[in-house]
Order: sequence, then structure tokens, then C-alpha cells
Amino acid sequence: MTTVPASPGAASKTQPASVRAGSPPDGYRAWVAQAPQQPLVLERLEPGPLGPEEVEVAVEHCGLCHSDLSVLNNEWGLSQYPAVLGHEVVGRVTATGPHAKGVTVGQRVGVGWSAASCMHCRQCMSGDHHLCAQVQMTIVGHRGGFATHIRAHWAWVIPLPEKLKFADAGPLLCGGVTVFAPLAMHAAPTDRVGIIGIGGLGHMAVKFAAAYGCDVTAFTSSESKFDEARAFGAGHVVSSRDSAALGKLAGSLDLLISTVNVKLDWEALLGTLAPNGRLHVVGAVLEPIPVPAFALIMQQRSVSGSPTGSPTAIATMLDFAARHDIAPQTEHYPMGAINDAFARLASGKARYRIVLDADF
Ligand SMILES: [Zn+2]
Ligand SMILES: [Zn+2]
Repeated sequence: MTTVPASPGAASKTQPASVRAGSPPDGYRAWVAQAPQQPLVLERLEPGPLGPEEVEVAVEHCGLCHSDLSVLNNEWGLSQYPAVLGHEVVGRVTATGPHAKGVTVGQRVGVGWSAASCMHCRQCMSGDHHLCAQVQMTIVGHRGGFATHIRAHWAWVIPLPEKLKFADAGPLLCGGVTVFAPLAMHAAPTDRVGIIGIGGLGHMAVKFAAAYGCDVTAFTSSESKFDEARAFGAGHVVSSRDSAALGKLAGSLDLLISTVNVKLDWEALLGTLAPNGRLHVVGAVLEPIPVPAFALIMQQRSVSGSPTGSPTAIATMLDFAARHDIAPQTEHYPMGAINDAFARLASGKARYRIVLDADF
């Protein structure tokens, strides 16, 4: 038994769950990180009572996102140990608290980057739950999905459309909505859209933008990805390290979505934006992006960013993915090989997203 924190407040909420059929009497099992940069270890955890508004999900698949690696290694300085990582969960509902709404036992659902929000602040009441000041990250101070079970507030447990490819759907719940949200907010189907970085996020962004009808330009530093980017739906592929090639695109793109976490020639990339164009950042690059005022002023351009998305944005994205048959390109590992999967992710060689299949 370890002291991994259960969901906040779960222990203090004593109302019985309405259905407890799926809760194993011997507790949950989970892959636990006891400290930064340490291998994960399989442990048994006491789940405690299910909160009245909580939903319990038996994990079937869970995507491995770069944020799991960042939190494992405490790269952002906010990790809490011991930690159960994993925030791209696909599974079935096994129990619902008495005040949980919208999902039923047995239903196939997903849980992403967020597991709860306050449900009464201005952001939550406006439908921007992901911007709630008290939003509960799934893998910081809360047990994530590299486990037999996960719990989350009902609002963040998203029913999956029947047509979705469930085994590969996990990465949509974090990476997918992260790149879908800026398209939904800022793109028109007639737009010319650039996707910077063809990796876990970027390859899904190309698929979404192409399905939306946009003319898509993929920017990648890796020539080995040129053909694949075209296969994902990019009409054009440009080396992000080729400043001359970037110069030829000057003033042409309506929306640029950056998914990278490395330094690039930002000035040249801003220069590819058309008047009223927008650079939208979803990749967590730690080094500041230089933005010359005149690059914005004279062409009336914008720079913006966003984190994942609201429950409604996730549900809309899943509908869109099911309708257009969009799934991430994945590599599957049994969850028992989770440390190998983390090493594969760290190597940067995964094409393009890793999914762990529960094998407890
Ligand atoms: Zn993620
Ligand atoms: Zn709130």
C-alpha cells in the first residue's frame, strides 16, 4: 500500500456509490512513480470511497503522452510523488457516485488531461471548464490511467462514439483535443493552415485540418517524415529548418499551429502568416518565443495559445474523428512493458503515439 493521493475530497465524501459492481475488493493496481526519473513499479492501491459525483472506469487502453514523461521527470516543477501517470484513458464505467450524471455503468468512455473542475466558477459556467482555476490535472495530485481503474468527475468522463476505433482513441483525449481546439476556434475550411512539427500532436493536427477542408502545409525538421505527412493529408511539406523555403511562404498562411517543444526560426515562421494570420502555440517550448511588435502590427497578426479543451470540445472532437475516421497512428505496448514504452517515447522514435493496453 502506498500513499498516492486519491481524488481530492474523495475520502471525506462518505456517501455510498450507487453502483460498486466493478470495484475490486482487493483494491486497484497501478504503475507508480515513487520519485523523478525512476522506473515505474506495479503496486496495489486502496481506492477509498467513491465520491458522490465521481465515476470509476476500468482502464482498457491508455495513451502515453509526452506530458507523462515531463511529469515523471518533474520538468515543470509541479509533479507530486508517488504519482500514477497516464491521461489518455479509454475504458468502461464500472461504478458511478449517486450524484454522477451523463454516464452509465458499462458505457465506454474516455478521460483526458483533466479529471475534475469546480463546476461553479465563471469559466466552468461558461463551458470553459479547462480554464477553471481549480481544474484537477489527471496526473498531478490525482491517480492517472496507468492502472486497473481511474476515477474522475462525471463532467470529465466523456462517452465515446460507437464508430471510434477504441484501441487507438486514447491519444485523441489529450493530444487530439489539444490540436483540434485551435482549429475549431480559429480556422475556416477555406484557410491555409500550417502545422509545425509532425509528431504525436502534429500528425493528428494534419489529419484534422485536412478533414476540415483546409489547405495544409506541414513543417518538419525530419525529411524522413515528408511522405508520411503527405499521407496524413498535408498538401505541402516544408523543412522547418530551411529559412529560404520559409521565406517563399511569406504572407501566405492564415493559421499556424505550433506543436514543437524546441527553438525554431520564429521570425521566419511569423513571416509566413498572411494579414490577420495567427500563430497558435500548443507545444510546451520552455524557451520564450520572440515576437517583434512590427511583425504583428503591420499585418494585424496574432499570437495565441491554448491547453487541451473543455469537455464539450473533447466530445465534439471525438464526433468529428468518428465521422471522418480519424485515428492517431499508434504503437501498442502491453502495460506491463510500461518502462520500455517510456524509453521508446524518450528516444523520440515513436511513430507517432504510444498506447498501452491494460494487461493486469
Ligand atoms: Zn497529454
Ligand atoms: Zn471552475
